[in-house]
Amino acid sequence: MQYLPNIIFALALILGFGYFAKNVKKIIRNIKLGQDVDVSDNKSERFKNMARIALGQSKMVRRPVSGVLHIVVYVGFIIINIELLEIIIDGLFGTHRIFSFLGSAYGFLIGTFEVLAFLVFISVTIFWVRRNIIKLKRFWKSEMKGWPKNDGNFILYFEMVLMSLFLIMNATDVHFQAMNSGNVISQYIAPLFSGLSETTLDSIERGAWWLHILGILVFLNYLYFSKHLHILLAFPNTYYGKLKPKGQLNNLEAVTKEVKLMMDPNADPFAAPEEGAEDEVPAKFGASDVQDLNWVQLLSAYTCTECGRCTSACPANLTGKKLSPRKIMMDTRDRLEEVGKNIDANNGEFKDDGKQLLGDYITHEELWACTTCNACVEECPVSIDPLSIILEMRRYLVMEQSAAPTELNTMMTNIENNGAPWAYNQMDRLNWKDE
Ligand code: SF4
Ligand code: SF4
Repeated sequence: MQYLPNIIFALALILGFGYFAKNVKKIIRNIKLGQDVDVSDNKSERFKNMARIALGQSKMVRRPVSGVLHIVVYVGFIIINIELLEIIIDGLFGTHRIFSFLGSAYGFLIGTFEVLAFLVFISVTIFWVRRNIIKLKRFWKSEMKGWPKNDGNFILYFEMVLMSLFLIMNATDVHFQAMNSGNVISQYIAPLFSGLSETTLDSIERGAWWLHILGILVFLNYLYFSKHLHILLAFPNTYYGKLKPKGQLNNLEAVTKEVKLMMDPNADPFAAPEEGAEDEVPAKFGASDVQDLNWVQLLSAYTCTECGRCTSACPANLTGKKLSPRKIMMDTRDRLEEVGKNIDANNGEFKDDGKQLLGDYITHEELWACTTCNACVEECPVSIDPLSIILEMRRYLVMEQSAAPTELNTMMTNIENNGAPWAYNQMDRLNWKDE
């Protein structure tokens, strides 16, 4: 029986990491449902972007208040988790503060963790106030109802509780307090427990220790269901982010070839296609569902932090149009999750559920409200490109369904007939100068 806590601890670790690994596999499977795209170019530039944007948080600090608070939470969380190593060794082998033999170095380490835990607690509290008391506009847009709103708050509560448990654990650890080294914050919490017997203090310390590690395991698994997944996916997403100039649109290879053929006076329009050329024509032009998007776009949907920086800069949204780039990303993730569940329920095969991203999640009105200004792309702190999804779906509407708005159809007909978007003969285009 003496080893029971160690066995329970080992089981908790196996369950916690096992369930997490299972869900990571699911995420990878879902992302791979996307179309292939070649992002193997410019490795050094990609690494630089990842180091600058994800690791260095360079785009976060454009909004200094949330940027600095976010950096505190980010650094705090990473560094405090180093302490996990000690917890795991203690839990598995029944030791207590195995690294305390390091003496003053140990005190310095734990002292740093305590200060960071305290700063994380303060930052998270300010985040909560900004969301719930000050009610920053971007957190109260129409797409931020129900789960997205609760999820944002749950994460903050989780972090508050985890940091508190860490400090309580240190404050009630009689031996640690007696060391009088590294207890820079917990020494002020310890008096709250004065007068309690050593046995009671020990029970509180053990309780906080267990809840702290179990809480971390639960939080780890919560990531899969939450926008907080960005703490892991921000790295690959910034690595694979778009390198081309923001305004540069991608061309459909098949269409480009077709146009080149049309422009080539020597081309034989009746020539038989080259062997294998039929395969190069995409089965569908543009995207109507998540499987038509490429895997980087699907990775981005899982990475979106739902921060709303894109939406708060979107001119369409600001002028009251029914478009929010954040919602485009959230819808893509929701639909992808739905497709993933469908595959799970049907033994690994997707069974048509009569739904798709276009229409059931994202409306035509939203898509045509976009001005293609790229403000959302510029604002995103984790290199997400919501515009690329909008454009793929518009491409589907135009090329597969001829469902462009009348104004656009008129413009395209004019370009075809007059070589310009206006309804004038080419010769009359400069008439305005004589007015
Ligand atoms: S590109 Fe479209 S979605 Fe993005 S900010 Fe501009 S109008 Fe909004
Ligand atoms: S797309 Fe980027 S800016 Fe927009 S909500 Fe998601 S993470 Fe934030």
